[in-house]
Amino acid sequence: MSEEQQRMIVKFWGVRGSYTTVRPEALRYGGYTSCVSFELEGKLLVIDAGSGFRILGNTLKKDVKDIYIVLTHLHRDHVNGFPFFNPLYEKGRTFHLIDYENNGQKWSLLSLLDGINYPMQPDSIVADHYEVSGDSLSYLCEHGFQVSSLQMNHPGGALGYRVSYNGSSMVHMPDNELDAPNPVTSFDRFVEFCKGADVLSHDAMYVEEDLPEKRGWGHSMLPKVCELAVAAGVKHLVLFHHDPERDDKEIDQIQSRARFLLEPHGIECTAAYEGLKFVF
Ligand SMILES: [Zn+2]
Ligand SMILES: [Zn+2]
Repeated sequence: MSEEQQRMIVKFWGVRGSYTTVRPEALRYGGYTSCVSFELEGKLLVIDAGSGFRILGNTLKKDVKDIYIVLTHLHRDHVNGFPFFNPLYEKGRTFHLIDYENNGQKWSLLSLLDGINYPMQPDSIVADHYEVSGDSLSYLCEHGFQVSSLQMNHPGGALGYRVSYNGSSMVHMPDNELDAPNPVTSFDRFVEFCKGADVLSHDAMYVEEDLPEKRGWGHSMLPKVCELAVAAGVKHLVLFHHDPERDDKEIDQIQSRARFLLEPHGIECTAAYEGLKFVF
């Protein structure tokens, strides 16, 4: 087994929030929506299937045979890449489609292929595929992925995930309002969930200037995200779910602001971009 295969490789395929944007001035960070993959020993765990998921499909390595897809929630920017994932329509791989089950909601990615919202039907899928419902975290654990989840503060509900491997861990919370008006999860609970993570990838869609009108929309303000990174003692903060209206220069400025706040605490910070990679 090569050294790469003994490690967990995390890659960002879509980092925008809300909708895909394609503009020359926003190409550096990229315009595709939520999708992050965790590769481990020829298996791939994917969190969210936004429009970035399609790009992952186009470059998927041949030796990746099992693909596990979990969702943080059902907003369209987190699911709409699924029907356009080319490996679904080829033989040779197995898809483990984890149903989204949260707060009494139960939903399958296959329901997107209804012949109405998309022209395809589930029987168009050529690859082996299984719908997984019930205790999905135990299912992932049985297949080699150690994952825990937490309720997010987000309209309609959402989950965040912590993925651990060999003593390292990454927390991914793409849509979460830390300072929500009616929180379901307290700030202290978020600190506990993120404690000591090597990487915290968190919704940082807004800055102070977006207040007060965007309070309650389900996304976090930059200073509060930095406060979480410091309180939880994470090593590296990744700013995620960029506002699609922001161009590269504006995201550079947000990254600089965050670095200014985090540098005294020895925490690294990167504004997520397509292709960003971590190896654990
Ligand atoms: Zn979103
Ligand atoms: Zn959302």
